[in-house]
Amino acid sequence: MGIFGDDKKCVICNREAGLLGGLTGTTLADGSYLCSDCSGRCVGKCEFEKMKTQDVRDSIAAGEANKRRAEGDYHATRTFSTGRARDVELLTVDENHGWLMSPALDDGWVYDMDDIYTFSMDLEFEPLERGEKYDLNTEPFPELPKCPEGARVSDATLTLRLLENAKGTDKIEVDLIPAIFRDLEDVRSAYACAHDFFEFMRLYRTKQRKRER
Ligand SMILES: [Zn+2]
Repeated sequence: MGIFGDDKKCVICNREAGLLGGLTGTTLADGSYLCSDCSGRCVGKCEFEKMKTQDVRDSIAAGEANKRRAEGDYHATRTFSTGRARDVELLTVDENHGWLMSPALDDGWVYDMDDIYTFSMDLEFEPLERGEKYDLNTEPFPELPKCPEGARVSDATLTLRLLENAKGTDKIEVDLIPAIFRDLEDVRSAYACAHDFFEFMRLYRTKQRKRER
């Protein structure tokens, strides 16, 4: 008999539930006990009360496979960044594997390019000051949203919406304008970055369709 009247052992690592493990561990849907170390290795939505032992094993395996990808196989062939923050990588792509990472999200996750089902540039606006000139020419970017008359762009986000994936992330949101840089030049640069990404995706998908044929 253990401290809690039964010998609770973690179903994954077989370690006995100690005082700490016993208090912070989780009971799975099939009644098995999962210690906090092992629950920390799970990726995805991690609704432990609904998960069985095999789900946990799959989840941990997905996390380990991702780690191997991120630290071994992943080699970025394209990098997307913007303006004065150009040294900050927002998105990187490994075209040879069809993978994408977001250093900006800092989640260490290698997303499958095929999991992106749509993407958009989302803008926020604020009214111009009286007499303020705002010369944001968006003509070269017909696929991107325009700034309404009498307003300026105060923030811009690149949003990638994802299909169901092992990480359990439904969208990647990348801030195209860092809080400290909000000049017209930075907005133009945000447009240019979004445009580059849109163009890249268009070509990538065209190539992919050709491969599939
Ligand atoms: Zn464990």
